[in-house]
Amino acid sequence: MIRVTVWNEFVHEREEGRPKEIYPDGIHGCIAAFLSKEKDMTVRTAVLGEDMDGLSEEVLAETDVLVWWGHCAHDRVSDDTVERVIRHINGGMGFIALHSAHHSKVFRRLCGTTCNLSWKNDDREVVNCCAPFHPIAKGVPASFVIEPEEMYAEPFDIPETSELIFIGSFTDGSVIRGGFTITRGGKIFYFQPGHEDYPTYHNENVRRIITNAVRFTCPVSGEHCVIPVVNRI
Ligand code: ZN
Repeated sequence: MIRVTVWNEFVHEREEGRPKEIYPDGIHGCIAAFLSKEKDMTVRTAVLGEDMDGLSEEVLAETDVLVWWGHCAHDRVSDDTVERVIRHINGGMGFIALHSAHHSKVFRRLCGTTCNLSWKNDDREVVNCCAPFHPIAKGVPASFVIEPEEMYAEPFDIPETSELIFIGSFTDGSVIRGGFTITRGGKIFYFQPGHEDYPTYHNENVRRIITNAVRFTCPVSGEHCVIPVVNRI
């Protein structure tokens, strides 16, 4: 079984407004619900405000893949939590960063860049698959529309990607590297759609991509461990 932890800052959906209407159980609750239907996955959730930000050593040790959604509370995640998460990713844990998690402390550390991008008005997004044989694209059409979605656009300050799988395009011609992997011990996948004001995580193709990404980023052995430090002179 793949042990998945879905982490969410869980701020927007606690306030009155569209995010709460669309995701009454929180974005983490929505994602955990569709992943839980997969027979090879066991899913737990963790949110900001819980002890150790919900990500204690024990939780991380029992996590094969960590899914992360954050937006307005990146700075409230403690540096100790970031260190723990990074250590587990370096040891093989999979990590999936969703939407505005591009600016999370963890993702920026993994990338080693600012992860800044162009932010524009909400628009109609076409998600184009540019690696149709990649496992994360399995069962996903060559292109599909999310309307509306928040426009994130190039330039996107990320390191060289291992695999570019999806490119988002918008009506004004803007594009974004919207779905890609990098490797830092564990496998990492970033996926750009998922603004809190829209039902993006109810979209069947988005759900398929995240489900596929969990299987792809899961460490092969099913267990991750800290890579031993070996000093050579
Ligand atoms: Zn957003």
